[in-house]
Amino acid sequence: MTETVTDFDVGAVRAQFPILQRELDGNPLIYLDNAATTQKPQAVIDALVDYYTQCNSNVHRGAHQLSDEATKRFENARKTVANFINAAAVEEVIWTSGTTEGINIIAKGMAQRLKAGDEVLVTQMEHHANLVTWQQACKASGAQLKVVPIDEQGNLSIEAFDQLLSDRTRLLAMPHVSNALGTVNPIVSLTAKAKAKGALVLIDGAQGVAHGDVDVQAIGADFYVFSGHKLFGPTGIGVLWGRKAVLEDWPIWLTGGEMIATVTYEDATWGALPNRLEAGTPNIAGAIGMAAAIDWFQALDINAVKAHEQALLEHALELAKDIPGMRIVGNADNKIGILSFVIEGIHPADIGFLLDRQGIAIRTGDHCAQPLMQRLGVPGTARASFTIYNTLQDVDALFKGLKKAAMMLA
Ligand code: PMP
Repeated sequence: MTETVTDFDVGAVRAQFPILQRELDGNPLIYLDNAATTQKPQAVIDALVDYYTQCNSNVHRGAHQLSDEATKRFENARKTVANFINAAAVEEVIWTSGTTEGINIIAKGMAQRLKAGDEVLVTQMEHHANLVTWQQACKASGAQLKVVPIDEQGNLSIEAFDQLLSDRTRLLAMPHVSNALGTVNPIVSLTAKAKAKGALVLIDGAQGVAHGDVDVQAIGADFYVFSGHKLFGPTGIGVLWGRKAVLEDWPIWLTGGEMIATVTYEDATWGALPNRLEAGTPNIAGAIGMAAAIDWFQALDINAVKAHEQALLEHALELAKDIPGMRIVGNADNKIGILSFVIEGIHPADIGFLLDRQGIAIRTGDHCAQPLMQRLGVPGTARASFTIYNTLQDVDALFKGLKKAAMMLA
């Protein structure tokens, strides 16, 4: 199944994802829910099986060969991540359970440092993970949460950003890419502006990391957080990248084994990075699986990947013109392959249900962005999200399915 639209061999990519062979009620699976989680290539599945069948053991503390091997694989995985995002030092990579945990680690520390009069800047397009967390950190500390508006197309208002950023801004926390709209934010220039005011900057990279070449040094932020499962890796594993000088004295958040230097009955001292922020037995298999996903992803030509995803989006936008009453929610100037939409007279949940009957998996609802839905005046949307293993035929099937759904509900 090769496509002529780009020189990207999508058939060869698809062949590596066993789940894409599945049928649902006799229909071939058409998986268009990649912004929620991506499927896993055989290389990742093999890495997990190999770890559990060959060297399962606890890391860092064993006096035996299996533990040594597990530790090597686990720490090599950290190096893979560090190289992938161009971290200046490998100890800047902290394993987490995912984006949400990464944001919470920073928010917990921030809440101790914020005080009344301080401000935290977020955007109107936040996922709840990067909104509720800061809302609560502000409530706990007396700081004020400021929200940068978006325009009707889903572009962040740079004018409003410039007005809201001030000497009182202690932190800018914003998404690289919006999960609900697909908007790609100009994180490099906005980070530079916030840093010039002395603020810390956290980028929620949950949606950004699998759609581009993330270089944390070039971005210039203090923290970049992401999840393995949106990057063709396992669930339950993610990364908090932080600038070493900032993380070195970041308030500890979990206490226990691994993160200490010395312990008495009365007190304890903390270890060095990365362990000081990684208490307890880590998700060893998850880290190894995530590194396998990164190795797999990096073997692809990123420019071809981007061109392929854009071709899918453009094809979808063309076909959308043929669906009566369909409105795309999120038409930012710079966006990835996320197609959020509403169809007049049809509830998004019904769209999702009727597509599912045809083997087509999309997401419907508020996409963990309730305030954004309110801002856009919709109860929720239907969202198809494309990635490297999707084909033009998948997009055709989506629109054929939408026409069928519209007819059934007419
Ligand atoms: N931020 C964004 C932009 C997301 O899309 C998501 C996942 N939908 C998250 C944060 C949270 O990621 P996770 O559930 O993997 O922690």
